[in-house]
Amino acid sequence: MLNIVLFGPPGAGKGTQSEKLIEKFSLVHLSTGDILRGEITQGTPLGMEAKKLMDQGILVPDEVVIGMIKNRIEANASAAGFIFDGFPRTIAQAEALDTFLNGCQTPITCMLSLKVDDEELSRRLLERGKASGRPDDQDESIIRRRIQEYNHKTAPVAGFYQSQGKLVDIQGVGEIETIFEALSDAIEARA
Ligand code: AMP
Repeated sequence: MLNIVLFGPPGAGKGTQSEKLIEKFSLVHLSTGDILRGEITQGTPLGMEAKKLMDQGILVPDEVVIGMIKNRIEANASAAGFIFDGFPRTIAQAEALDTFLNGCQTPITCMLSLKVDDEELSRRLLERGKASGRPDDQDESIIRRRIQEYNHKTAPVAGFYQSQGKLVDIQGVGEIETIFEALSDAIEARA
C-alpha cells in the first residue's frame, strides 16, 4: 500500500500534481480543503463553522479534519493507497494520522514536499482566484494569512517526517510535467 503525503504551502501545486499521481498510481485522493468545501456547498453545520475560519485563512480545528480523514480512509478500505493533500497541517494531525495508519499496519510511505517561494505562491493564488472564485484566493491579506499559518503551524510537520527518514524535497517551480516526473521517481524509489 502506498500512502503519500503531498506537502507544501498553499499554491505549491498539490492539487494539480495529486490529480496526475492518483491516475498513475491508482490512489485515492484525500484533500481536506476539497472535503471542507464540499461541506460548505452542502450547507452542513460543519461546513458553516469551517467557512468562517477558511474565509479568514485560518486553519480549522484539528479534531474536525482528523475525524474527516479517518472516515474517508475507513470508507475506502480496499484502496491501493492514498494521497493526502493539505493534510496533515499540524504536528497534532501528523501524530493522529501516524497512530491511525500504524494501527491499520499501513504506515506513511513518504512525504513529498513541493518547494515554492512566497512571492510565486501569492502570484499563483491570485491567478487561481480569478478562475476558481475561491474567496480565500482573491484577497492579498487573506493569502498572506494563509502563508503565515503555513509557516507557523504547518512547516514544522516536515521535520516530523524528516525524523522518520520519510521527507523528500521536490522543486515545485518549473514545468508541470517535470515536477510530476520528479514526484513519480521519488514514489517509485520507495514503493
Ligand atoms: P486548501 O484547499 O488545502 O488550501 O485549504 C483551504 C482551507 O481549508 C485552509 O486555509 C484551512 O482553513 C482549511 N483546511 C484545509 N485542510 C486543513 C487541515 N488539514 N487542517 C486545518 N485546516 C484545513
